[in-house]
Parts: sequence; C-alpha cells; structure tokens
Amino acid sequence: MPYLLLRGLSHSATACFLLLLTACAEVPAQPLSAAQTTATAASPTATEANTPTPLLSFEEWRMLLRSDAIAAGIDADLFDRTFAGITLDPNVIKADSSQPEFSRPVWEYIDGAVSVSRVAQGRLLKAQHRPTLKAIRSAYSVDHEVLIAIWGMESNYGSNIGSNNVIRSLATLAYDGRRQVFWRSQLLAALQILQAGDGPKQGLLGSWAGAMGQTQFMPTTFNQHAVDFDGDGHRDLWYSTPDALASAAHYLHASGWENGQPWGFEVGLPQGFDYAQADPEIRRSLAQWRALGVKPLRTVDANEQSQATLFLPAGHRGPAFLLLNNFRSILKYNNSTAYALAIGLLSDALDGNPGVQATWPRDDRQLGRSERIELQELLTSKGYEPGAADGIIGANTRKAVRAFQQSLGLPADGYPSHELLQQLK
Ligand code: CA
Repeated sequence: MPYLLLRGLSHSATACFLLLLTACAEVPAQPLSAAQTTATAASPTATEANTPTPLLSFEEWRMLLRSDAIAAGIDADLFDRTFAGITLDPNVIKADSSQPEFSRPVWEYIDGAVSVSRVAQGRLLKAQHRPTLKAIRSAYSVDHEVLIAIWGMESNYGSNIGSNNVIRSLATLAYDGRRQVFWRSQLLAALQILQAGDGPKQGLLGSWAGAMGQTQFMPTTFNQHAVDFDGDGHRDLWYSTPDALASAAHYLHASGWENGQPWGFEVGLPQGFDYAQADPEIRRSLAQWRALGVKPLRTVDANEQSQATLFLPAGHRGPAFLLLNNFRSILKYNNSTAYALAIGLLSDALDGNPGVQATWPRDDRQLGRSERIELQELLTSKGYEPGAADGIIGANTRKAVRAFQQSLGLPADGYPSHELLQQLK
C-alpha cells in the first residue's frame, strides 16, 4: 500500500495493515509474523484520518450503498446475498483506531522477515515452483526471488491468508472507520470481484483490513493486477499459487520492475562522509556514488549509470544501502522502506547472497509515538519545519532533523534518535 500512511497494525497474528504510524525507518508496527497486509493498494490520505460520527444507521447506510453498487453494475441479488447477515465488526474498529506507542526497531523487523526458517522454506519452494516461476518470468519479466520473498512476507508462503470476511471488514471500515472514502471504494471493488466470479466459494477471506490471498492484494489492486495464470478461468489468489505469484509479478511489472537488476545493495562509506547525502531526494548514478567513495560490500552486477539513493535505515551508526529503481517498485507494493528492505534482503538470501554485514545499533532506544510528537513540536518551536506533529517521521521531519543536526555540527543523517530529542530539550 502506497505511501507513508500505511503501517502494520494487527491485533491478531493474522492481519496487519499499514497505518499512519511510522517508526524511524517506517517499520510496520507489527511484525511480519503473518500477512503483512501490505495491501498493495491505492492508499488512503492523511486528511481523511478523523473518524466522523456516522449520521445514518448501518441499515440506512447499507441501503444507500446498495443503490450505488447497483448503479456501478453490481447485481441486486448478488448484493443482497453478500450482505445477508452482515453486521459491524467491533474488532475491526478497534484495530483501525489502535495507535501503538512503540513499534519495532528496523533490525528486529528485518530479523523476523529474513529468519533462517523463512529463507530455508523459501529456497525449497523456489526449487519446487521453478517451472511456474520460469513461465511467470517469460510473461512478466520479474525475477524468481522477489516473488518468493513477497509470498513469504505477505502470507508466510500462503499459510496465513487471513480468515476475516472481507465484505464485513470493509463494510465496517467504510461505515465507521477513518478514511471512509477509501474503504467504500475498496468495498465496491470487492463486490466487483464477486460479480466477476473470482472469489472462493466460502466468500472473500482476508485480513481485517481487506487484504486478500497469498499476496494480500486489496480489492482495487486485485481488479487491476490479479491474473488467472493456471488457466482455470478464475483469478484465485487464495488457493492457486501460480495465480498468486503471477499476479504479484504483473503488479511489479506495472510498477516498473527491471528484470535482472538488483533492488539495491549494502555499501561502505568513506571516513568523514557527509551523511546529509542520505536524502531520498538526492539521486546519483552508481558511478557518481563510487566517485564519492561509496562502495558495494560485495560484487554487484548493476548498470553503472543506474540512479540510486543512499539509505541509512538506522542512522549513521547502522548499515548503509544504495537503493535502485527496483526498490521503488517494491515500495509501490507496500510503501514502507523497512518492508521494501526486508523484501530485498530476503530475495538476496534466497539467491544465496550474504546478509547485512555492518552492525545494527541494537543498543539504540527507539522513540515512542509521544516522543516523536514531542520531537516534532520542539523542532517547530526552534523554527524548523517538520510538518504536523503527528508522530510520523516523514520526509519533512527528516529534513528538519538534518538541519538541526547541521546547526550543531552533528552527523546529519536525519535520524530521530533519543540523544537528538535530549539535545532539542
Ligand atoms: Ca486460476
């Protein structure tokens, strides 16, 4: 799910949804234990974030939705059958309004994402599904490893696809949740999936936030990118692995995936390096980065003219990466840099490459949500412009942090550390 706003937030082992909440490195607040729900969809916007009190009863609201659905081409019978017995789901409302104080540090998130067992199982599955993966690569020009990595992250290789009734979840969110416009469009898209005859017999199952199947597609993403790859006439992301993997490939292809190119790679930085270069707005060719002394830690086969940005997910005390175009394609799948980094590192591991070599600053205490808000308020009071004090560390907050660090002559990595908060005080 695209940009910034979505963050993992599951109330059970099943589903997480990315929501407005970002830790320093945009780590989904809840591990990827399971369906990371990424959802992969058009994202809600921050401006829709308040929950208006519904003016209509659920029943009245449903009747209005019914008219809209019928006007959009949904059969009245199908609507009535689908909504028979549908009630609001209090667990969904609770999950949607949850704003956890703490989220996992990026290294813990990566540890969970690229665990020994996930890598081992992924390698086995990659070998097992080789003919399908080759056919998918011929059709969509997407490498095997990234598809297996997405499959592993989204549903633990299809073993955790979520058991919520997606119609009920989306109806609850569209009626009562934040970002009602977004949820209503997802709900109508879900009805279109049923109308096309693509859902499994037991109905649309998924995460509490409506992400479905082995690749956790949101309904609008499903309608745009899901494909029937096993040729049975149905797009089945729940129980057909060929359909699920090919749909992920189709989506990555549409997001500009460059087959055979890396997503990025770990680099070493020279002594005295200006950390302010680690700014997502600063793009240079690999040759230019090399000229600045930024060097890959392993042999990498990439075009020297490819544009890359420098990424320090845990600030200057942690590992550094150059990110290429394919990283941006993964971000279109799920707009969390931690997620995209995990997918990249898992793909590398599936390909037999070594893991992260530099040491993560594991002693670093992460800022909680209220501390991130305090940091933003202090930056504002000192004349910097971090944007709204919402606890989300986005581009503006990083820029403000960097400017403050530069004013003190500190390494300007834009990383909101606990020490920095103390200095602001
Ligand atoms: Ca199929």
